[in-house]
This record gives sequence, structure tokens and C-alpha cells, in this order.
Amino acid sequence: MCSAVADDDPEVHRIEFEVPWPPWTAYAYLVASDEPILVDAGAPGEDGWEALLDGLESAGYAPEDVEHLLVTHPHTDHDGQVATLLEAADPTLYVPEGVPERLSRDPADLAAVVRANAVEAGHPNPDAAVERSVDSLRRNADCLPPEAVDVVVADGDSFEAGGVTFEAVHVPGHQVNQVAFRAGERLFAGDALIEPFRPAALHVGYDRGCFDCVDAFYDGLVRLDGLEVARVFPGHGPVFSDVAGAVERTRRDLDALVDDCHLTLERLGESSPYALTETRVEDPRRIDFSVFESMGALARLERHGLVTSARQDGVRVYRTA
Ligand SMILES: [Zn+2]
Repeated sequence: MCSAVADDDPEVHRIEFEVPWPPWTAYAYLVASDEPILVDAGAPGEDGWEALLDGLESAGYAPEDVEHLLVTHPHTDHDGQVATLLEAADPTLYVPEGVPERLSRDPADLAAVVRANAVEAGHPNPDAAVERSVDSLRRNADCLPPEAVDVVVADGDSFEAGGVTFEAVHVPGHQVNQVAFRAGERLFAGDALIEPFRPAALHVGYDRGCFDCVDAFYDGLVRLDGLEVARVFPGHGPVFSDVAGAVERTRRDLDALVDDCHLTLERLGESSPYALTETRVEDPRRIDFSVFESMGALARLERHGLVTSARQDGVRVYRTA
């Protein structure tokens, strides 16, 4: 299935992309209108382009028909075809505030910040963290050329695209700049709310602000709580309607993460975020991503007076208070 009318909303067509990590699929949405609107642009590479073509075609469109392109956040499973689409068509490109600056970042500055923060987290191989971050910056800037951005949208901004009024809701935590786009009864949530699971709190990776990812995620949920919409169109997983239920589940999952970090630290006595993650997470492939969540959870516990920390030889070591 490449595209389908999204759960009895005849104007929204869902376009499916394969991605090489769980949950294995990502979604973009074509909103039918005299000036068709695409929300997110799928996965990169030729397979992504084929999926986009197929999805647009089964909705009755070609790439050059897309007149407005809204991007929820600069991850390659959502911005993967922005540059390719801009070669084929001339849509107005809307991105969240901060994205052009983030994607224009000097790689040497990013490398220096990531190295210092990876050391502080207790990473055993800071070079690997630096390489991964710089590579991710390069891939995302290739997919979403910052100089191509037409409109920057900030939290609370209302704007009109293709006859539809959108409101941007800043939902950091998964990615620091992420916005969800509300259009009347519809919410295009990006990776802020997904029904079967909580999106990872990646936020900035090891960049500046890496200890804030969990607090930021909670802040975004406050903005989503109480939104009255009929349908949520997420970046992964099924279309759903129960916003309050998804917010509550996501918040409970964050609470469980923070509790787990607290209990693990009590057992260990003292720990760096990285060592704590090695204890907490069984699958070694998940450690490099889960460490951001440990950093955010430990920093939150410290702000609440439940743990303390001190730097030892550059590594931040936490203890229960
Ligand atoms: Zn995603």
C-alpha cells in the first residue's frame, strides 16, 4: 500500500515510506486542495522518491502539483525528499523555527560541542559520537537545503497554505525544533504523538541542550493536551483520534523512564549517564540512542532535588540525594 485515504478523511491521503529501523514505515500526508499541500516528505534515496511518486499518483497528483510543503522536523525519514521535490516542483517550503540555523551549522562547532557532551555523558568512544552527529547534520542538510526555506513557523503561528489555515504547535523532545501542524479538526503530529509507542527523546542528540530532552518533551505534551481535534496524522503508526489518551500514555511513559533511571541509580550507587544506560537497556544497539534519555531523566531528577551530580575528569557522575 503506497497511499490511501487516511481513515475516512477524503481530503487527506497517506503516503507510506519504508525506513530501515523500527517501526519500519514512516508517513507523509497529501492534503487535497486547489493548491495541494504535502506534510513531510518521506524517506531519502531512490526508494523514497519512488514511494512518493506512487503515493502522489494514487492520490491523483504528480510531484509538480505540490504547491505547499510543510516539514514537521528535520529527520531524514520526514525531510528525505525535500530537495528532490524542489528539483521537480516549486512548492513553498515551510519549516519550524530554528531549522535553517540548525542545518547551516558549522560542522567543526558541532563536533566540538558533541565531543565535550559525549565525554560528560561518559561515552567510551566520543569520536564515534562526533562522527555520527556530523554525518547526521550533513545528511539532513542535503535532504533539506536550508537556503531553500521560504517560511519559518514558530509556536502559535497561524498561516494559510492552499486555502487551509494551519497553526504551529512547538513539540520538542523528540527533536528540538519540531512542530505539529493543526488544521481545524486535523493534527499533523510529526513524531510528537504516536499511538502504539512513545517516540524517542532524541531532541538535540549530544548538541547544546542535550540534558533538556525529557523536560522539553513534557513541555510539548502540555501544548498538545486539551487540543480538540478529530484526527491525528502521525509520522509513524496508525491515524488515531484520541489525543488526550495518547498524551496521557506518552506522559506515563516519560514518568516510567524517569523512575527507571532513578531506581537504577539507587542500585548502582553512582553512575555516569552512559554507564547507567548500559545497565538499563538490554539491547546494546539501543544504548547510543537511549543515553540521551538517561541524560535528560537524570538532569530532571537533579532539578527536582532527587539526585546530585559532580564532574570527575570531565565525566558527570550522578548519585542519589
Ligand atoms: Zn520519524
